[in-house]
Amino acid sequence: MKNIDINIGDVCNNRCKFCMVEHDTRRMVDFEKIKFDIILAKKQGFESIGFLGGEFTLHPEIYKILHLCKLLKFKIVHIISNGRKFEDKKFLAKLIESGANRFSVSIHSHKSNIEDELTQVKGGFGEKIQGIKNLIFFYNKGLIRHPVSINLVINKINYLDLLKTLSYYHEMSVRDFRLNFMWIRGRAKKYKDLYLKYQDFIPQIDKIIASANSQGYNVAFDGIPPCLMHKNSLKYIGEYHDFNTDVIGYNNPQGIRQRFNWQKLRKNSLKTKHLKCKACNYNNSCEGVWKGYIKVFGWADFFKTSKLL
Ligand code: SF4
Repeated sequence: MKNIDINIGDVCNNRCKFCMVEHDTRRMVDFEKIKFDIILAKKQGFESIGFLGGEFTLHPEIYKILHLCKLLKFKIVHIISNGRKFEDKKFLAKLIESGANRFSVSIHSHKSNIEDELTQVKGGFGEKIQGIKNLIFFYNKGLIRHPVSINLVINKINYLDLLKTLSYYHEMSVRDFRLNFMWIRGRAKKYKDLYLKYQDFIPQIDKIIASANSQGYNVAFDGIPPCLMHKNSLKYIGEYHDFNTDVIGYNNPQGIRQRFNWQKLRKNSLKTKHLKCKACNYNNSCEGVWKGYIKVFGWADFFKTSKLL
């Protein structure tokens, strides 16, 4: 299925340390512009539409936006959110009634102090937990079509706790987890204490996969090239399963509308490969490595890690 994500601007109620937004313009995109792109996407045959930011739940016209997607009969209407505003059950009910049928929440720990430190919002953890409970409530009632999923940024502060984190949310009935290896870009560049080396994280991958299989939840990794995974773990690479996604956004200093294919942008511009990659069996299916990672740790370190396998 073809998916389109609309970025509604940089306005956010969190200050996540690993946020990769480069130009924090604090602008929200007008409803009329978003409406134009929703209608265009429908005409172009997209059946799945997602909203991200910034924080989409802060958009003043959120109900109108979702309602338009419902009217146009998109099969998937996806909200990608930090989840704090889902704490308000009435607000969430109205989002669902307006047309949202898939939800992904960003949360990065099962410990309130860690979560609040990473997102720089005191009390944010409690709001998110209540938000996830509310989402599960509506999902169990059959009012949300797709299982609730959690997006988590893997970093130096949380990586050793991930097994416990995933079990914690699985016990709350979350079954889908997307684990994104931290991308050193935008605000994230400032927080060196969060930088994590592949060689430190790689031993965790098989443990996490084993736990997912024994406990019965789904896990996918993002930002980890295939040469750093065991052969039988390659199916857990998130990028291999994603919908082909176009993104529309205005988050540049001039506020100019930009449209790009997310997979192509990652492969051709945001990630990089080494000359040695030409001889790699995965070269065709691999997007490469985040440029920010190579800039900080270098290729020598990277290839040292791939030899550990
Ligand atoms: S192409 Fe390069 S980065 Fe990708 S899997 Fe092969 S060696 Fe690793």
